[in-house]
Amino acid sequence: MKYFTMEECIHSKVAREKGIDNTPSPEIEAHITESVESLLDPLREAWEACSRKQGWGTPAIRISSGYRCRELNRAVGGSVTSAHRYGYAFDLIPLNGRMREFKAFCREFLKGRAFDQLISENENDQGLPQWMHVGCRHPDGKQQRGQLLSLVNGRYLPMICFSGDFSLSL
Ligand SMILES: [Zn+2]
Repeated sequence: MKYFTMEECIHSKVAREKGIDNTPSPEIEAHITESVESLLDPLREAWEACSRKQGWGTPAIRISSGYRCRELNRAVGGSVTSAHRYGYAFDLIPLNGRMREFKAFCREFLKGRAFDQLISENENDQGLPQWMHVGCRHPDGKQQRGQLLSLVNGRYLPMICFSGDFSLSL
């Protein structure tokens, strides 16, 4: 856990407001640690190198939603089978506001790596998501399907790549 703390991975404004105890079990803490160390930390490190090279400003990444206990997941309208419930999924937002670049970066970064799902969530008609969902493992704890998806108007589609998207060499 180099770039992300356990606190950031379990923090939830909604949980706080609604008085939901979002404390993970030791088993789920282990999932969170595995996810951060195998995927989120390396992603954050590569994003920093990329941001420096491109002159994009702060490489900080905010986790807008990480672990969600059953009650919290219900409160935010998450899918019943969401990997967030198991500490395997995280919604990420780059603090420099470069969402288009971050989307392309995540896709490039995950090429050839073990992961379950990358979802560009709630895309607008310009292909810009509100956040990028990175799922390290399926809730079964085993599968890493390597899916690239876009969530548009509540429907999952193969990830839409716009011709204007530049390709990054990482
Ligand atoms: Zn998510």
